[in-house]
Amino acid sequence: LLRLLPFISQLNTLRSSFANTASSVDIVADFLRQDNKPFMGNGTISYEKLIEGVHFKHLCFSYPNHQNIVLQDVNLYLPRGTTLALVGSSGAGKSTMADLLPRFYDPTSGCITLDGIDLRDFDLKSVRKAMGIVSQDTFLFNDSVRNNIAYGRPEASDDEIFTASKRANAYEFISKLPQGFDTQIGDRGVMLSGGQRQRLAIARALLQNPEILILDEATSALDTVSERLVQAALDELSRDRTTLVIAHRLSTVQKAHQIAVLDQGSVVEIGTHEELLQKGGYYSRLYSMQFADRAEVFTRTNPSFNR
Ligand code: ADP
Ligand code: MG
Repeated sequence: LLRLLPFISQLNTLRSSFANTASSVDIVADFLRQDNKPFMGNGTISYEKLIEGVHFKHLCFSYPNHQNIVLQDVNLYLPRGTTLALVGSSGAGKSTMADLLPRFYDPTSGCITLDGIDLRDFDLKSVRKAMGIVSQDTFLFNDSVRNNIAYGRPEASDDEIFTASKRANAYEFISKLPQGFDTQIGDRGVMLSGGQRQRLAIARALLQNPEILILDEATSALDTVSERLVQAALDELSRDRTTLVIAHRLSTVQKAHQIAVLDQGSVVEIGTHEELLQKGGYYSRLYSMQFADRAEVFTRTNPSFNR
């Protein structure tokens, strides 16, 4: 939370500069613009709709002014309406992959295509409007719960806001706040837990209804109940949606249509959960390590369960 506080007030000053159609992607993009990055070219094709899918082709990437190769010849295909999960140890390049999709950076070589068209050929604003991000850093404003959810769609009706909140497992806790949806949050209002903030961000994304969803999941700071509610909300958000997820939670990984294991910037394994477990490689080791942790928590919190 402390990490987030400076963000909340900075964002409030930025906020008025956004158009009504600003998406969660624009929020992040505006932040990154503060880095000194090379000028990013804009294409002319107005993005309309994804029909086939997203293709990562021979993707290589190094950060500007850095020597080390972060992504090395990554080839992945994400068909429309499916979920591709990225797993791998810290520093493997997962978040970088997620940053290339909304063009926070452009590849050093190789490309990302939407229905075969290079991302760089699209008008940037139109393509970002189709994308939503829910990440570890939840961007909330010093404003009411309602306005935080409706951010990006200020014309949304109460009904739409309530529905999104219910689907995000947020309605119940919001109703219990002192002024319900009118409760002020942030440094001049009510402080929310990590899990509550995430569910607000998910409600916001549900309301935005992006065609392409990017999830960089949070690992820590959620208690078991919170985690279960957040997971259910994420499942709801990503269902039938073209989703790139950086997955930490076992349940997300298991349900993904494809799991790509990244190691030092390369895809070392790809398949479904079952296929990768059967293979007995990197993923299955990763999984049994995580599962060992979870099994311990699980039996501690469910003493009657034994298997
Ligand atoms: P992951 O999400 O899998 O933990 P990242 O994509 O965050 O991995 O990082 C991959 C590599 O890129 C790491 O070696 C990291 O230090 C480096 N890196 C990440 N962000 C930056 C940046 N803004 N500038 C330079 N190097 C970076
Ligand atoms: Mg990361």
